[in-house]
Amino acid sequence: MSILVLGGAGYIGSHTALELVRAGKRVVVADDLSTGHIAAVPDGAKFYKGDLRDRAFLDGLFECEKIDAVIHFAAYSLVGESVENPLKYYDNNLCGTRVLLSSMTEHNIGKIVFSSTAAVYGEPENIPILETDRTVPLNPYGETKLAMEKMFYWTARACGLEYVSLRYFNACGADRSGSIGEAHSPETHLIPILLECANGKRKEISVFGTDYDTPDGTCVRDYIHVTDLAGAHISALEYLEGGGKSDIFNLGNGVGYSVREVLEAARRVTGKPIPAREAPRRAGDPARLVASGEKARSVLGWQPRIPDLEEIISDAWRWHSAHPDGYAE
Ligand code: UDP
Repeated sequence: MSILVLGGAGYIGSHTALELVRAGKRVVVADDLSTGHIAAVPDGAKFYKGDLRDRAFLDGLFECEKIDAVIHFAAYSLVGESVENPLKYYDNNLCGTRVLLSSMTEHNIGKIVFSSTAAVYGEPENIPILETDRTVPLNPYGETKLAMEKMFYWTARACGLEYVSLRYFNACGADRSGSIGEAHSPETHLIPILLECANGKRKEISVFGTDYDTPDGTCVRDYIHVTDLAGAHISALEYLEGGGKSDIFNLGNGVGYSVREVLEAARRVTGKPIPAREAPRRAGDPARLVASGEKARSVLGWQPRIPDLEEIISDAWRWHSAHPDGYAE
């Protein structure tokens, strides 16, 4: 069985490609390397450089490689950037997916697992969040992901395609080997920023908002290990191969930690002081986002293996302390 991993040089894509190689699958990675890193592509995966908006590139790929299923990570994912430059997100995330679906249906490739996000919910109506809860995104990133889900839904109905949409909560951590990890430029995520403070690359962390309606006033998030997310993609593929119907799943641990709790955990794991200063709220941040992981557990049989926050940070720290400049290409 051959799996095409689109965006397989990025953070979650590379961890998934690695888990697929470890599971003995034949893996083909395609990435335009605009944000991904060639060094993150695992040994054993075949690599193509290209953009999924390029129909000729995708057609050529599907003609050369015998692809049974696609995992689609190739999308922009920075909330702040999406607010400043929405059309960049509509162009890449939606136009890219449209070209992909046209090429897939023409080549009779009928199974796809793709990255969605907790950002589709916007301000949640309930905690923990169920897949059936209201979806009102607060930014273009979440809007484009929700529109992608709908594009899959209608194309699946019209063309007989089957898809699984995985709504990630806060991806973090790194492969336990220390060989790959999180390396964004610019970095905007909490845990890598804390670790850049610990390894001396940054002076301090700004805690965005201390007046939320949460126990300690800071935002609460559901932090999920990237290797657990990778495992969920394999479970989703197996589900589709076993005849499972198109569906949507939350991926989280079902436990929320505040920014202050994550800061304290990072101080304990690294043994470094990590200076912090209180700052105003960041636009578009809901107070609490915590998944109900019940559906993924019962339907996909997926269960996080590394739910412990300190273990997650410790895996991330192994990568960050050994690679202070990321992939340094
Ligand atoms: N955060 C923070 N300081 C930072 C980066 C993030 O206080 O320098 C907070 C952010 O406001 C949010 C939480 O940490 O409440 C997680 O943010 P992140 O960007 O990692 O993920 P998001 O929840 O936006 O997907």
